[in-house]
Amino acid sequence: MSDQRWPSGVWDVAIVGAGPIGLLLASELAGGGIRVVVFEQAPSPSPVPKANGIVGDAAVSLSRRGLLDGTGLRVVSPPRFQFGPLVLDLGVGPGNPLHVLPIPQRRLEELLEAHATGLGVQVLRSHEVLTFSQSSDDIAVAVRTTDGEVTTVRARYLVGCDGAHSIVRKQAGIDFPGITSDEIARIARVMIPAGRIAPVSDGFEIPGIGHVAAMRPNRMPGGRFTIAPVAMLDRDAPDDLYLISTHEPRGVFEASDAVSIDELRSSATRVLGAELPFTDATAIRSTIGNSRLADAYRHGRVFLAGDAAHIFNAGGSALNAGVHDALDLAHRLIATLRGGASDVELDGYEVTRRAAGRRVLAHTRAQAELSRDENEEIRSVMAQLLDDRRTARRLARVIEAG
Ligand SMILES: Cc1cc2nc3c(=O)[nH]c(=O)nc-3n(C[C@H](O)[C@H](O)[C@H](O)COP(=O)(O)OP(=O)(O)OC[C@H]3O[C@@H](n4cnc5c(N)ncnc54)[C@H](O)[C@@H]3O)c2cc1C
Repeated sequence: MSDQRWPSGVWDVAIVGAGPIGLLLASELAGGGIRVVVFEQAPSPSPVPKANGIVGDAAVSLSRRGLLDGTGLRVVSPPRFQFGPLVLDLGVGPGNPLHVLPIPQRRLEELLEAHATGLGVQVLRSHEVLTFSQSSDDIAVAVRTTDGEVTTVRARYLVGCDGAHSIVRKQAGIDFPGITSDEIARIARVMIPAGRIAPVSDGFEIPGIGHVAAMRPNRMPGGRFTIAPVAMLDRDAPDDLYLISTHEPRGVFEASDAVSIDELRSSATRVLGAELPFTDATAIRSTIGNSRLADAYRHGRVFLAGDAAHIFNAGGSALNAGVHDALDLAHRLIATLRGGASDVELDGYEVTRRAAGRRVLAHTRAQAELSRDENEEIRSVMAQLLDDRRTARRLARVIEAG
């Protein structure tokens, strides 16, 4: 092979996917003296806006690793936090258990990639993993490189951090059971001129539509509507730029990264019962929620982490769970490859992290169910329970754990 970056021999660990979880796992392994390579099929980081933050103690873990140093970013404990359609009133001070790092996913990935490459990790973009086969000693991975050539790379272990449609999971024969939502969400950045929207104490007044709360789902005639000024996330964003989302019954639609402005406008009108006065829209996409957990996190020398292992339909908990997967697995791989720990150590990954995945699945499914129109009575009972701050904080501790 002509590429000079490829040392001969066997890598300790090959990672598929340079999303946040693959990049973090690679950094942790490299910091522990492991020879690690990351294969990423995309030529550059995805411009599609995804997460707006990390919720839970994973945020603290990243901060402790120095990732936020000099960035101006900081972990906060919000006094209120959304639990599906309900608000957890957590208060301020040491009794508030929840940590949040507000950060656009793109920025997070940039920080993680710089951190990983600073530790000597090779992140090979435009390298698509096609197949693999394992023996008792190692694993042979077929990779299509930048020039289209297919080559075989050997590693002691392979980790699929290759997202919800993971080919590693599929080729390892691991099922991904769960449920697909019957709702569709459309998300976009829109410009709403100052004269067409008026800030009020906890949200906005929009002529023809009325009052909508900021940063949380509003129950509207045809579904749910969420709106937040982008400047809350990105100080450089113009004041008239907003992140909006509509949720409504799915009908015949499929999820897409290329939603037209007409489809967005129609959806907003159906949900709000009147036309939303936006003048421009970018990054319009639609998603259909899934709640799924891989049947196994390990198959011989192959592991799954992040969205490849679990996807959730609510709650901003995916990165928290994925970060914990990466930290736990890195620790075990280092103990095995450098410390001579037995295979039992590696089995512990699935025992620990799949149980955690099941817990996250439970509270995110509960949030999705609480959001459904027909569950008004359950919402009302839950809202009464959550009036007690101790109960709200107890639930926040569940979210915090990941
Ligand atoms: C609109 C939206 C909003 C979200 N908001 C939040 C939020 O607020 N908080 C939160 O915690 N989570 C949120 N999420 C979820 C979060 O974005 C994901 O949990 C996160 O991206 C998962 O990271 P990952 O590294 O596991 O996988 P991914 O980010 O999906 O990365 C997988 C990578 O693997 C690569 N890959 C795939 N197959 C191959 C192959 N064969 N060879 C080489 N490379 C391959 C892909 O190109 C990709 O770069 C949101 C998601 C969306 C879509």
